[in-house]
Amino acid sequence: MSLENKKMKCITCNTEFDIKSDTKPFCSKRCSNIDLNNWLNEKYSVQLIEEFNENDN
Ligand SMILES: [Zn+2]
Repeated sequence: MSLENKKMKCITCNTEFDIKSDTKPFCSKRCSNIDLNNWLNEKYSVQLIEEFNENDN
């Protein structure tokens, strides 16, 4: 087994980090939160647009 030196790239910032990290596929908790926030923001803005269109009709 040679998992020791395996690295992977963070999907948020592209930094290489240890594959054994608890935070994968992110290099850190911070990048994990950034990705989550991006996802939530997208979802939230789509909802806002839908509500706006309903009210407008
Ligand atoms: Zn990162």
